[in-house]
Parts: sequence; C-alpha cells; structure tokens
Amino acid sequence: MRRWNSETLLEAQGKFSVPSLLSRLTITMPQPIPLDYHMHSTFSEDGHASIREMCLAAVERQIPEIGFSEHLDQHPNDVVSINFYRPDEWWQEIRNAREEFAGHLIVRAGMEAGESHRYPVKVQALARDYPYDYIIGSLHYDGDHFLFDPEYLQQTSPEEILHSYFSEVEQMTRQPLFDILGHLDLPVRNARHIWEAYDPAHYEDLIRGILRNCLDHGLALDVNVAGLRKPSQNIMPHPAILRWFRKMGGERVTLGSDAHSADQVGAHLDRAVNAVRAAGLKFVTCFERRQARLVPLED
Ligand SMILES: [Zn+2]
Ligand SMILES: [Zn+2]
Repeated sequence: MRRWNSETLLEAQGKFSVPSLLSRLTITMPQPIPLDYHMHSTFSEDGHASIREMCLAAVERQIPEIGFSEHLDQHPNDVVSINFYRPDEWWQEIRNAREEFAGHLIVRAGMEAGESHRYPVKVQALARDYPYDYIIGSLHYDGDHFLFDPEYLQQTSPEEILHSYFSEVEQMTRQPLFDILGHLDLPVRNARHIWEAYDPAHYEDLIRGILRNCLDHGLALDVNVAGLRKPSQNIMPHPAILRWFRKMGGERVTLGSDAHSADQVGAHLDRAVNAVRAAGLKFVTCFERRQARLVPLED
C-alpha cells in the first residue's frame, strides 16, 4: 500500500525544480485533516460503503486516522435499525482493516449510541465486552419524536423543538455512557424554518448546561459537517457554541464527516478545522481504548 505524502504528491504532479515545487506546494497543499471519527459503513443500516472502501478513501485523502461509529439505535420505532448492530462480525472487519492498513492508517473502533440515557443496558454491555476506542452519544429521538421526521418538524415551532431537544440532550449528558457528544444542534440541520430562525443565544442557559456536563465528564464535542451536504449548510455545533465551550475551559473536540459513503470520507473537514480554530480551540482529541489524548492542530 502506498501512502500519499508531499513527496509522492509532487511525483504525481511531474518533474519540477525544487523552488517551483515548493511554491506550488504552498499554494496547492490542502489543509491537513487530522482525523475523521464519525463514519458509517454498511454495518449501519444507512451506510453504503464497506469498511475497506472507506479506509481506502481515507488513505487516498491522506487522513492519518479514522474511526467507524456504526449506529446502535434502540428506539422501538426504529424497526429496521434495532437489530442491525452486529458486533462480532463488525469487529472482525475492523481487525482485518487494521491489519491491511497497518502503517498507513490508524483505524479506531467507535460506536454511535442513540439515546444512551434511555437505553443504557446494551451500551454498557457492549462497552464491557469489546475494546472500543470511543463511543459517540447522539440524540436522534426526542422522546418519541424522530428528529428527522418532516411531519414533526413542520408542525412544531422551532422554539418548542429546540427547547425540548436541548433539554433532552442535557439529560443525556448528566451521567453519560459515552465519550463524544454527537452532532449537537441536529434539528437545525433538518428543517428550513428551524435553521432560518436559529440563534443559539435564545437557548444559552440550556446549552451552557450541556457544555458544563461535557466538561464535568470529559466529553468531547463532535464537530460534524453533515449539514454542509444539506441545504442548511450548517456546521454542528454552531460556532457560538464552540466559542462558549472554549471560554468555559473546553478543549476536547473531534471531527466528523458523518460519512455514509466512501466519497464522503473526510469531506468538508477542512471547514470543521477552521471552525475549531476560529473558536480558539488548539487541539483535536484522539481516543484509544476510551482514553482521550489532545493533539495540537498543525499550523
Ligand atoms: Zn447521528
Ligand atoms: Zn452518524
């Protein structure tokens, strides 16, 4: 397996004198993407690419570290996803990928657990039985309201949806069973009348409560760019929330494309890095066996 680095990139561009190569490099080298921790393979019900295909895409895009975070959805309405999680088979694929890409790509083993405060038993059992590197905790259901359900989103005011959503996330982060808070702001991405009206300052007390819980429990925020593939064009969480987090003493963030196909691996994460920097954050957080480590963002 060949790793693309600045030298092989230059080779691929043809032969140039060293000074012209250097000037070309400074102009054309993209922002380095240190990691992508939010990815779904075909082991998630809505994933379209194999673990191997997504690893190949990461190597091609020179992302040194990725993590798979398949859905563990347990809401009773989620009739398709509820039994989709197959840990033994998945772990075998992860081990295969680690072996195949050793020296070229770090492959982390994650999980995206939905509503872990409501369905803790299976999350706890999996975390005990398998050596996960991290667990992302996400809210996809607010009570019985699916946060992607157009009917619920259209028939309810943004204030009601967001007040209820942030309250539920606050509950979820009180005694968290996870390491990373997934895509905070999710409803904003999913309906025009919400994203057009959204100002996090209206929910500041609630959101700061969530951030306080994150700090108390050492949770990282998933800076998630799935919204950049949608008309909403929002990075989650909102830049103001990232700034509050930093000012409250927060340091831990991860980057997530929320890729569900190989072409989405690492996509738009340069903008996530910019958002992190703009908030005054200086690190990304790597997780290994559920231990966090801060890694400085490269200049
Ligand atoms: Zn999610
Ligand atoms: Zn996801």
